[in-house]
Amino acid sequence: MEVAISPVDIRKFAQAQLEKWFGDQGLPLFRGRQVYQWIWQKGATSFEEMTNLSKSLRVVLEQHFFIPSMSVDTVQISKDGTIKTRLKLHDGHLIESVLIPVVKEKRFTACISSQVGCSLSCSFCATGKMKRIRNLDAGEIVDQYRIVNKQSEEHYGHPLTNIVYMGMGEPLLNYKEVLESVRILTHPDLLGLSSRRITVSTAGISKIIKKMADDGAKFNLALSLHAADDVKRNQIMPINEQNNLEALMESIQYFHSKCKGKITYEYIAFNGFNDTLQDADNLAKLCNYFPVKVNIIEYNPIEGFEMVKSKNDRLTSFADRLRRKRVQVTIRRSRGQDIDAACGQLANKG
Ligand code: SF4
Repeated sequence: MEVAISPVDIRKFAQAQLEKWFGDQGLPLFRGRQVYQWIWQKGATSFEEMTNLSKSLRVVLEQHFFIPSMSVDTVQISKDGTIKTRLKLHDGHLIESVLIPVVKEKRFTACISSQVGCSLSCSFCATGKMKRIRNLDAGEIVDQYRIVNKQSEEHYGHPLTNIVYMGMGEPLLNYKEVLESVRILTHPDLLGLSSRRITVSTAGISKIIKKMADDGAKFNLALSLHAADDVKRNQIMPINEQNNLEALMESIQYFHSKCKGKITYEYIAFNGFNDTLQDADNLAKLCNYFPVKVNIIEYNPIEGFEMVKSKNDRLTSFADRLRRKRVQVTIRRSRGQDIDAACGQLANKG
C-alpha cells in the first residue's frame, strides 16, 4: 500500500538541510543549493518555475514540499504616493506593508510587519488593539519585501532603497525570524541588500537589545520613544513598566558600543501631552548617551484614542528647543492621510 506523504513547508529548511535531503534521496547535493536559491534569491512560488530541474524532480518535490505564499488583498494609494497593501497570509490572517516614496531624494522605503497583531498594547496604535495572533516567519517577512519592491519598480521605476521593520508587531518579540529574514535580505548569495539600509524598530525591550548587540547585529536600530519620562511613557506604552528609560538607555548604549549601527528615536508628538518645552528638555537629555537622530512624527489618529497631533506652532517650538540643544531633529509629516495610514488600521478593517 502506498503511504501518502503530506507535503511540508520547504522554506523551513536551511540550505544544509535541503542538501542533506537531496543526498538522502540519492540525488546530487548541489540540487539542494539550486532549490534554496530558487526560493530565496529568485522568490520562486512554485516548483514549476525551477526550470533547471528535470520535470520528474519537480514532481518529486511537489509530493514532499509546498511553498507557502501570500496574496495581495487590498491596495490603497494615497495622493502623496504612499502605497499601503493589505496582504492575506496562507492561513487567512491579514497584515500590512507600506511603500513610502520620497521621489526627489530617490528614497523608497518599505515598512514591513513582523507579527500578526501585537501584544504590547500601546494605547495610540491600531495594531495594539488587535492583540498578538502569531509571529510571521522569515519567509513571510521577506515576501513583503518582494511585493513592495515590485510596487516600487512598477510605480516609480526604482527598487526599494530602505527597509524598516516598523509595521505591525514588535520585531524583538519575534527575534529569531526577524534575524533570519535580515540574513536572507542581506546575504550576498541571496538578496544581497546592505544591512545599513535596514532599520529594526522596537518599543524597547532592553534584554533583547543587548542580545542583538551580542549577536553582532549590523542593521540600524530605532526606538519608538514617544515620551521622554517614565510617567508619561508608562501611560501610553505599558512595555515601559518593565523596560524603563534608564534600562533602555543602558542597553542601547551597549548596542551602540558593539554594533555601530545608526540609532534613531521615533517620537510621535501628541498635542499638550508630550510636546512641551519641558518634554523637549527631557528628550534632549536622552540624546546624550550615544549619537542619535530624532524623528518627530505627526500622529495619524485612530478610533478610541483621544489624543491628537500637535498643533504646528507647538511642534515648531518643540523642534527648535531641541535644535538649540544641538539635537539632530527631523519632522516627518504624516504620509497617506487620505488612506488608512495608521499602523494596523487597514488590517484591522479585515
Ligand atoms: S506601536 Fe508597535 S509595539 Fe506598540 S502596539 Fe503598535 S505595533 Fe505593537
